[in-house]
Amino acid sequence: MSTVDSLVDMPVEAGCIAEYVWIDGYNKVRGKARYLPNVPSSPADLPDWNYDGSSTGQAPGADSEVILKAQTIFPDPFRGKPNILVMCDTYSPEGAPLPTNTRYECALAMSAAASLEPWFGLEQEYFLINPETGKPIGFPAKGEPQPQGPYYCGVSGSKMYGRDIVDAHFKACVYAGIKISGINAEVAPGQWEFQVGPAVGIEQGDMLWMARYMLERIAEMKGLDVNYDPKPIKGDWNGSGCHANFSTKPMREAGGYEQHIIPALHKLENKHAEHIAAYGSGNEERLTGKHETASINEFKWGVADRGASCRVGSDTAEKGYGYFEDRRPAGNCDPYVVTRMLVQTCCLDE
Ligand code: ADP
Ligand code: MN
Ligand code: MN
Ligand code: MN
Repeated sequence: MSTVDSLVDMPVEAGCIAEYVWIDGYNKVRGKARYLPNVPSSPADLPDWNYDGSSTGQAPGADSEVILKAQTIFPDPFRGKPNILVMCDTYSPEGAPLPTNTRYECALAMSAAASLEPWFGLEQEYFLINPETGKPIGFPAKGEPQPQGPYYCGVSGSKMYGRDIVDAHFKACVYAGIKISGINAEVAPGQWEFQVGPAVGIEQGDMLWMARYMLERIAEMKGLDVNYDPKPIKGDWNGSGCHANFSTKPMREAGGYEQHIIPALHKLENKHAEHIAAYGSGNEERLTGKHETASINEFKWGVADRGASCRVGSDTAEKGYGYFEDRRPAGNCDPYVVTRMLVQTCCLDE
């Protein structure tokens, strides 16, 4: 007998449904779907598509058409195989990348640095928000919950909220082939983290954006919103960051710490202001020097120092090679911009 749920779960017998996903004019993801009679085997098999940019903050005036170009394909955990999610970027009808198409420049920088094999691991922190109260799940409608302490990597029914969403998202990412490396509960109630990495070059931005899209789809199923802002809850509550772990092939080889990581940290120090400007909006409310952050006004690096702008793990310092962590990016950063800046400053000397 047919029900709505059984129709939702019904397999697509021939061809496939492709959900085209893109970044809008507000640093958020959007998507729309089309049916394809043949299952594509690479992005080149997918037709360009378009949408109304006047509804997404991307095209003023009469000519509002935006062109979508398919860039990366992921198996779709929502509709199941052979259906696909497609990460796209955006162009004017004349073929110029839109100003919000940050993937375009990122891909150029990643090609220029390809021989160095840049690896990234981004740690996306976020809050699950109840739209009725506007507060994180686990926050009472009035007043505040028990102060920070028991929530980070915690367990128990009185403290942990949203674990089903987090775990559903974890498995959905594995299904989609996203290089998700883990999840953990964060310091505030209703706050969690997932990590994507190590991912190579442009793959990091594509995978983190698609992982955000999937998280918002799963939260939507439970009537919840996702908030990536660097300081959504004022007061004595941690904000959300997006620490960027970074290495190149020379950094990962013997002598890499002295010869490649430390010089990269000096280059980052010289470009501190430029990086801060590109690392997400509202980050000044998060980078206060409290809550495991360094002040936004200074660049500080250190071994095993969670109050530094950039941290080298003790493992890397001891072995003499490995990677470092840029702790400055805000939760709402654009991973295409963050990874491009790291490569331009540390590898391309731009
Ligand atoms: P933290 O200890 O800061 O919480 P996490 O374990 O949350 O760190 O995240 C570290 C991320 O760095 C993971 O996604 C991991 O895959 C990634 N990573 C590991 N090794 C490297 C490397 N050599 N280069 C870049 N990223 C790496
Ligand atoms: Mn982490
Ligand atoms: Mn964290
Ligand atoms: Mn970290």
